[in-house]
Amino acid sequence: MAAFRPAELRDFYRDRYHPANLVVAAAGSYDPAWLEDAIARAFPAPRGAPIVLATAAPSLAPHVAYEAKDVTQLHLALGSPGLSHDAPERYRDRDYTDEANPFLHMSLHLALEEQLSIDQPPGIAHRFQILVSRFRDRHEALHQALECLAETLWRAQRDGTPPDASAYLSCLERRAGT
Ligand SMILES: [Zn+2]
Repeated sequence: MAAFRPAELRDFYRDRYHPANLVVAAAGSYDPAWLEDAIARAFPAPRGAPIVLATAAPSLAPHVAYEAKDVTQLHLALGSPGLSHDAPERYRDRDYTDEANPFLHMSLHLALEEQLSIDQPPGIAHRFQILVSRFRDRHEALHQALECLAETLWRAQRDGTPPDASAYLSCLERRAGT
């Protein structure tokens, strides 16, 4: 890339970005001959020869690519075993306190940090601050809040309803002793 000069790039652009390399999709009621003619008149004639297209598909093999980026960005995909609607484990009392699933625990942490950073549901950031001062430890406060979040999500899933934001906030208040 460093070897390219602006003039070369411009020439390349003019030679390659021309009608021979475009696909025009048209829909509706029109006369195909008229449309073809209109397109031919709208674009200048190509200068360079058409690009030779690859005839064979590139060979693909599964691999893991890690690319460090200079931006704050996190995509984390977590999976855990799914339970069918009639699985008894799904309705086990208070199974949301089950800390045996580190993936669930981790994803709750991520969700909570996101909620705190955008104060969603509104008021959560303030209530969390009260929790932090109550426990004098951000990490302990996080785990207290995680219990509330897990309970909220568990109830929503059990009842098939959207998460109850006010119950969530009340839970935080209770744990902060306010
Ligand atoms: Zn944790």
